[in-house]
Amino acid sequence: MSDGNVKTIKLRLDDKQWWSQGVRFQCQGSGKCCTSHGEYGFVYLTLHDRQQFAKHLGLTTQAFTRQYCERTDGVWHLKERKENPDCLFLDGKRCSVYEVRPMQCRTWPFWPEVMNPKSWAKDVVSFCPGVGKGRTWSREEIETALRAQIKWDRELGT
Ligand code: SF4
Repeated sequence: MSDGNVKTIKLRLDDKQWWSQGVRFQCQGSGKCCTSHGEYGFVYLTLHDRQQFAKHLGLTTQAFTRQYCERTDGVWHLKERKENPDCLFLDGKRCSVYEVRPMQCRTWPFWPEVMNPKSWAKDVVSFCPGVGKGRTWSREEIETALRAQIKWDRELGT
């Protein structure tokens, strides 16, 4: 879950970055990134994300937004239940809308705000069991995810 603050981060994409040799990551289906944890508490949504959700659920975008979303500081995100702040679409440990999951869920853990050694260790490695497992993401794949996340962040508020 993103802190919705990617726009303030300037990333240098060159071959001197720590991920230039690739990073091993494979989702282990733990559901941990779908549960609220501190500052990364919301599932933010662009208009495109909401349109995809709405289509999948057979709703108009307006109806989906009214039923499932709320806005904080001008940015739409999924509603949070007081009794359980986990994502509304988490079903046990599984995403019930995996095919239409929003961009921030697709690009995790390659978010600009955690792509520095300190945040990577603190905010990713310490709780995401997918890091260091499975296949190696190439530098190009990681940077594609980072660019998508940066573009998505610019579209927040739509
Ligand atoms: S939409 Fe799916 S992948 Fe994204 S936080 Fe919710 S349950 Fe997790």
